[in-house]
Amino acid sequence: MQGLKWGVVALLAAGFAAPAWCETTVLTNLTLIDGTGAAAQPNSAIVMTNGKITYAGPAAAMKAPKDATVQDLSGKFVIPGIIDSHVHIGLMHDVTQDEKYFTPENVSADLKQYAAYGVTAVQVLGTDKDFVLDLRNQQRKSRPTMSRVFSAGQGAVIKGGYGGLVGVTQPIATPEEARKLVDEQAAKGVDFIKLWVDDERKTIPVKMPPAVSAAIIDEAHKKHLRAVAHVFYLDDAKELIREGVDGFGHMVRDQPVDKELLDMMKAKGVWMVSGTLSREMAYSLAMMPWLNDPFFTRGVTPGTLDALRSMAREKAVVLGPTRFPGLPYEKKVFWDMDRTLFQALENWQAMVNAGVNVGMGTDSGPNGRFPGFNAHEEMQMQVLAGRTPMEAIKSATSDNARWLGDKSIGSVQAGKWADLVVLEKNPLDDIRNTQTISAVFIAGNSVPTIWQTCRDRPLSACTTGSPSEPPHMPY
Ligand SMILES: [Zn+2]
Repeated sequence: MQGLKWGVVALLAAGFAAPAWCETTVLTNLTLIDGTGAAAQPNSAIVMTNGKITYAGPAAAMKAPKDATVQDLSGKFVIPGIIDSHVHIGLMHDVTQDEKYFTPENVSADLKQYAAYGVTAVQVLGTDKDFVLDLRNQQRKSRPTMSRVFSAGQGAVIKGGYGGLVGVTQPIATPEEARKLVDEQAAKGVDFIKLWVDDERKTIPVKMPPAVSAAIIDEAHKKHLRAVAHVFYLDDAKELIREGVDGFGHMVRDQPVDKELLDMMKAKGVWMVSGTLSREMAYSLAMMPWLNDPFFTRGVTPGTLDALRSMAREKAVVLGPTRFPGLPYEKKVFWDMDRTLFQALENWQAMVNAGVNVGMGTDSGPNGRFPGFNAHEEMQMQVLAGRTPMEAIKSATSDNARWLGDKSIGSVQAGKWADLVVLEKNPLDDIRNTQTISAVFIAGNSVPTIWQTCRDRPLSACTTGSPSEPPHMPY
């Protein structure tokens, strides 16, 4: 009881009312990978009290109240909850994207799915309805049981141009309208301002002009908010940096990045918030190699699986132009994506080598990019591009928390929220072992893992796969 009594006495001494009860859980005999980049520590223990980490270190030195719940995690590995710095939520029903699916129920289903995959926080970039901010505020006053939300509210889309969500984002045309939009978002309490600067490979005649993007960024800074831009072209990235942008939501991928861009990013501390390498990969695959992988299939609806396995999808990949509901133009979704993927990978590695701040983000949520699943793909692709598994984990945890500016998450250290992922196998041996999820905690709450999930079906419909048998990709 010693630890518990001391905790209560300390709280009383500090002038706080004693909590009605203290809930303490001890995880012990685990190997700790704390997310800071520090070496893995075998024989470690973590103490969680009322959702916060009160101790993380050698098991031998750990003190905990006698009545604490103890879980022996011998042979297992613990990493911080994964943070995805670029997602969209509540967009889809199976493979159809529509504003009408943006309901509290669908948003919760997505956030639970992120959590099941060990993604305990997400940054939603610019397609949220206002109720998401209420949900976020509730989360920040409590101990959530689904992924934590950081929201950019409704992002800035140029009238007639690329980006946003039809029916949710209100396109703008002038610098004055841009400033008004930012002011409205700031008044709602968004965490970031998002803007889209792209013309979808020159298929759309309108692209946001510098006068408008500069007004958005300037107004965001006046409201003490950072601005994140969707980009594709190298020249746009440079222009946005001159205008003061704080981060990019995608890799530059029209051509190789040059020293000028890298120097500008470093000099101004501009982040590559989310490389979205897994997004580019998803669009370059005619048939997805994970369609029979239980780590994937458990997280998607039967309707999604049927559509992804269909001839229609294969045809769209091969033939290109497709008309999407709500878009006034045809989109060549899969056109030239192989080259785009390779360019994104090459540029991503150039940024890492140059020492640019790099987070981990996927742009999952829209069609073909899967909540939670893509975060694991993204870390694998970072390793494919030359980083170590440790660096990939760090980018997805403490680095992303640094980008978010949230000191309460991102690493397994005393004082942080107990957002944790327990793994059966060592992710430092093989980054694919992040899929061997045996438990997920958010604020100390144990939530169902992907291996205990079967989306939109009874649990008994998903009988294959387990955390101790990591899937083997056919490539
Ligand atoms: Zn996006």
